[in-house]
Amino acid sequence: MSKVLIIGAGGVGNVVVKKCAMNSDVFSEIMLASRTKEKCDQIASEVKNMVVKTAQVDADNVPELVSLINEFKPKLVINVALPYQDLTIMDACLECGVHYMDTANYEPKDEAKFEYKWQWAYQDRFKEKGLMALLGCGFDPGVTQVFTAYALKHHFDEIHYLDIVDCNAGDHGKSFATNFNPEINIREITQKGKYWEDGKWVEIDPMSIHKPIDYPEVGPKESYLLYHEELESLVKNIPTIKRARFWMTFSPQYINFLNVLQEVGMTRIDTINYEGKEIVPLQFLKAVLPEPGSLGENYTGQTSIGCQIKGIKDGKEKTYFVYNNCNHAETYKEVGAQAVSYTTGVPAMIGAKMMLTSQWMKPGVFNMEEFNPDPFMDELNKHGLPWHEKVNVELPHEYPVSV
Ligand code: NDP
Repeated sequence: MSKVLIIGAGGVGNVVVKKCAMNSDVFSEIMLASRTKEKCDQIASEVKNMVVKTAQVDADNVPELVSLINEFKPKLVINVALPYQDLTIMDACLECGVHYMDTANYEPKDEAKFEYKWQWAYQDRFKEKGLMALLGCGFDPGVTQVFTAYALKHHFDEIHYLDIVDCNAGDHGKSFATNFNPEINIREITQKGKYWEDGKWVEIDPMSIHKPIDYPEVGPKESYLLYHEELESLVKNIPTIKRARFWMTFSPQYINFLNVLQEVGMTRIDTINYEGKEIVPLQFLKAVLPEPGSLGENYTGQTSIGCQIKGIKDGKEKTYFVYNNCNHAETYKEVGAQAVSYTTGVPAMIGAKMMLTSQWMKPGVFNMEEFNPDPFMDELNKHGLPWHEKVNVELPHEYPVSV
């Protein structure tokens, strides 16, 4: 029985709160805090089986966070605000002696670049205080690393090739909207792509490599090679990996809109002066786009995310594919959220449960593949994200990479 403080009342926060409340044997008291308290109150009012406390907090402000944490006294803070707040929330957790978890790695606001170095630098401080920080506990990053760790534990002696394949074959009926925070999403896909090959990173122009990939129950969808943060920790923690890549689907319509927005300067992250006021074009664009949490109603279709792996078992080559498909309409029915928020929020709840029940608990800063994947894989099946596996099937990772 543990108290948990959830920060961020967006699409993902909504799911984390509701899934934690469904597991009140572990999460005995829940507080939801965010920049806009009304959004917390709305989510709290939809939870029927327990009283969820709410609070206003600016998570960029360490003293504000410290006083909120000291007042509520949680055992764990789940950060589902934005990556910009990771370090301030980690600082506040250290000051208050509380464990930490998030779903996306830190990014500085003025540079679209995600790297673990800033958060890994907290290793000694968390260790010395006997506290744990679990980084990137969503689906990707998150479950994709648990899938890879599970593959290594049960199917391979060595993993050589890893392709993470992420498809959203859903339709929300809007001309253009992003499924998670628009600012973070657009920063992610407009930066240079990158993959790991033969011991080094290969950088490519944004969205310049793409292929149709065949997704289970969905069929072939054009998929774009992006840089994604879990690649960094996976190649560090599983050094036998010779090549690691991340692919994500985008519809032709999405790409057209994005190109236009980029060409007219709306995705810029530098400050401009507009009628005497300093604004960042991408932040202005975010303010006029639909919020991810509002996309659930009438969303049809499904997501399909998995890991395609090739390596060696008992001296022989082996292939393995592990994946989850998640239906937008079903997740909306369950928690009033589309599947992208759901596939992030459910693993966040499970990760928190792993920590609070001491199944995953050690002092320091960790990525998901550093723990025993088995109990997490069991929980995925129990809490709405069942996974499937295929052994020795033909995988598309032999695609030649033409730059
Ligand atoms: P939303 O934009 O819907 O929600 C973000 C929430 O954080 C909003 O409620 C926002 O408040 C709040 N917030 C922002 N800044 C602050 C601040 N300074 N202080 C307090 N609260 C703040 O985003 P999502 O829910 O879609 O995404 C949440 C996180 O999950 C992001 O970090 C995203 O990158 C990550 N994510 C991870 C995935 C994974 O698989 N690992 C997949 C999808 C998302 P307000 O409402 O007032 O703006």
